[in-house]
Amino acid sequence: MSTTTNTKYLIIGNSAGGIGAAEAIREVDGVGKITIISDEPYPAYSRPLISEYLAQPCPLEKMLYRKPDFYKANGIQSVPGEKAVAINPAEHTVKLESGGFIKWRKLLLATGGTPIVPTMEGIDLKGVFTFNRLDDAKAIDTFLNEYRSNVKAVVIGGGLIGVSVTEALVKWGVEVTIVEMKDYVLNTILDEEAAALEADALEQASVGIITGRTVAKINSQTAGEVGSVTLDDGRTLPADMVIIAIGVKPRLDLVAGTKIKTNRGIVVDRTMAASLPDIYVCGDAAEAYDFVMGENRPTPVWPNAYEGGCAAGLNMAGKKTEYTGGTSMNALKYFGLNIVSAGLVNPPDDGYKTIVNRHNGTYRKVILKKGKLAGFAFAGDIEKSGIIYNLMKDGVNVDSFKQQLVADDFGLASLPESAWRSKLAKPSASAVPITTAEPKEEAVIGD
Ligand SMILES: Cc1cc2nc3c(=O)[nH]c(=O)nc-3n(C[C@H](O)[C@H](O)[C@H](O)COP(=O)(O)OP(=O)(O)OC[C@H]3O[C@@H](n4cnc5c(N)ncnc54)[C@H](O)[C@@H]3O)c2cc1C
Repeated sequence: MSTTTNTKYLIIGNSAGGIGAAEAIREVDGVGKITIISDEPYPAYSRPLISEYLAQPCPLEKMLYRKPDFYKANGIQSVPGEKAVAINPAEHTVKLESGGFIKWRKLLLATGGTPIVPTMEGIDLKGVFTFNRLDDAKAIDTFLNEYRSNVKAVVIGGGLIGVSVTEALVKWGVEVTIVEMKDYVLNTILDEEAAALEADALEQASVGIITGRTVAKINSQTAGEVGSVTLDDGRTLPADMVIIAIGVKPRLDLVAGTKIKTNRGIVVDRTMAASLPDIYVCGDAAEAYDFVMGENRPTPVWPNAYEGGCAAGLNMAGKKTEYTGGTSMNALKYFGLNIVSAGLVNPPDDGYKTIVNRHNGTYRKVILKKGKLAGFAFAGDIEKSGIIYNLMKDGVNVDSFKQQLVADDFGLASLPESAWRSKLAKPSASAVPITTAEPKEEAVIGD
């Protein structure tokens, strides 16, 4: 007979969202039993740092999101390497892959996303990888250690994950070509002009970039191993390895077959509650409130997962709290170029005003709607982007000083007193540290 254990709070997923929730629960409820299960066998680590792991390598200890004694110190039962295979909302139970059930009073799904893997010939060959978790980085590391020199890689997808794995591979001496279906790299987080600066940095590092094309099939050379790829225009590129980096989709497998409402992600209200009682969702799995768009949608970035997890945790523990919302927001430094963007980077219609300042390899662009910030993209000099983010999040009317926002000497002193006195000094989601180790600049939007 299968065993059933009991917990007050069950968190599935031991990453940004799960940790945010556990910390928030402990703020309210110092004793209620918290159990965190994860199918990954590690303590919570900073997912964005898996490229550092592959590149350096950066050991796991330096990637840990919280100190090793975090779980014990907070009275949290951590169950690594355990997969939840089904939830029963009516009975308040979760079935585990290893057998047995956990009965919960409040459940949080912080299960993140899964990489999108296209169906194509050759996808199962040795040398094809995704890049989403530490084990992916380890598998690539093992492959490169086993492999001969002069390795050629094709990275399918020139988004954040594609560029991030490319940087790590270049550090290994791998010859990389990025194949991007759209017209330019990083197209979901940058406009074409800022992306051109990143493309220059990539090309200076001898990375090949093919845009407007995709890979139609992966060909084997020796039995079962990658030898080349064929593009959709018929061209063939030699390749010893292929990294699939075309995006991540919210993980919905656990709610399939239940009455929990889903759209692109699992739909939550402003308390991060799902559509059935006592079940909450946060992070990449959720479709939560985006304060720029004024609607729910997936915004799969680390700070949003943490902040959404905090809001969920407070509500799970009985402290009614509204998630103020996140937005698409990225701060990165790949191939030496600092980039920060958030909200809209390309205005969708004429109802928006765009102000740009470009010179000497720096680019600053802000997008306004009805006097308020709706998005921005900074490349090169990103020093003041934290102030811009906070003005946007606080919904400050910037119309009277909009030109200043992109000026070289922009700073707090440029703001009228009313704006200055808004919550600018208060840390926002963007300031949440993602690692206990020396943070990589990409991890934080500073101001
Ligand atoms: C290479 C890379 C670089 C990135 N760079 C950045 C960056 O620079 N800045 C940024 O803001 N964001 C970045 N991101 C995105 C960021 O990592 C995610 O937004 C964040 O990790 C989401 O956190 P989460 O808690 O929702 O889920 P995740 O971090 O995805 O964690 C979910 C966990 O739940 C586990 N799980 C899922 N289903 C089950 C189950 N059934 N049973 C048990 N466990 C389960 C998963 O294995 C995983 O461990 C990057 C992501 C990647 C992959």
